Amino acid sequence: MTEFIPPAKPIIGDEERAAVDRVLRSGMVAQGPEVKAFEEEFAEHFGLGRPCVAVNSGTSGLHVGLLAGGVKPGDEVIVPSFTFAATANSVALTGATPVFADISADDFCLDPAAIEAAITDRTVGVMPVHLYGHPAKMEAILEIAEKHGLQVFEDAAQAHGASLHGTPVGAFGAFAMFSLYPTKNMTSGEGGMVTAGTPEVERLMRLYRNQGMEKPYHNEVVGLNNRMTDIHAAIGRVQLTKVGGWTKQRQENAAFLTEHLDGVTPPPVADGAVHVFHQYTVRVSDDRDGMAKALKDEHQIGSGMFYPVPNHRLKPFQVDVELPETERAARECLSLPVHPSLSQADLERIVTAVNTLAKAGA
Ligand SMILES: *Cc1c(COP(=O)(O)O)cnc(C)c1O
Repeated sequence: MTEFIPPAKPIIGDEERAAVDRVLRSGMVAQGPEVKAFEEEFAEHFGLGRPCVAVNSGTSGLHVGLLAGGVKPGDEVIVPSFTFAATANSVALTGATPVFADISADDFCLDPAAIEAAITDRTVGVMPVHLYGHPAKMEAILEIAEKHGLQVFEDAAQAHGASLHGTPVGAFGAFAMFSLYPTKNMTSGEGGMVTAGTPEVERLMRLYRNQGMEKPYHNEVVGLNNRMTDIHAAIGRVQLTKVGGWTKQRQENAAFLTEHLDGVTPPPVADGAVHVFHQYTVRVSDDRDGMAKALKDEHQIGSGMFYPVPNHRLKPFQVDVELPETERAARECLSLPVHPSLSQADLERIVTAVNTLAKAGA
């Protein structure tokens, strides 16, 4: 029988297990020296040139970042609708309103013109998502933000190592969040890493992460417990030594797929952009759902739809706004396996299956 090719596959090896064992044996498992080392090594590894704060999930990272940015009830933050719900959730959890803007057809990320059109006198910030591992149009977004006095917050959950004209994502905004969930490009089990654009943002994020305390029992703000454990940090530190090789493999897999796929639209890469292919997302203009089902049933190939329901149509957000490129992407997007565990035979099977189905559908 043909083996199933999963759409994603976290890689956790002996080194990660040994690191966890080391922390467990130390008897100190909550936030401590492993977290501190992980924060420093993460900033160094990705050349971020700014401090990092580790938290217990990517969503927590967005939340503490927005709180540190002073986002509060009554404010508006412009976000894409074509993203994971955590983007809008984190804005809503501060009491502010997520305002949904459309994406560009060429990179699935926020369209700068749509951002400008969505600005009101309550807008305090904009949160682009580097979707699938491709950098958003940061130069244009920073220019608009500067013109209108807005903060820029980066959702880099899927984009560890991506860059634009030599600047790594995570180094553009007031803060930027990288997710460390198991299916992301690297993991700590659960976790998030947040970069801070200024010492004040860093200080506030550390406060919000830990009940509002820098000095024990001298609480300065109402805070959360969003701390990362040393157990998770130890896993993340090992993964940092491997993520570069995995990313290279993802990029090579993507290059092979783009060269050989026929009848679907492969994901474009903008000039000056380094795409880290968290997802390899094609557009299927005709019967995307049928192709996904046939890939699974007839070819034992997993795929994903990120995201079939845009956030502005989800129950907690439901707003009446027209986002044509978002709707089209939600209808056409199909993410094919691109993870570093794929063999050459797997890649060839994916190409043959997609090309056969695309041709039959045409
Ligand atoms: C995964 C993800 C998040 C949330 O990260 P968690 O670590 O799962 O909390 C936020 N935004 C995007 C775009 C994501 O893909």
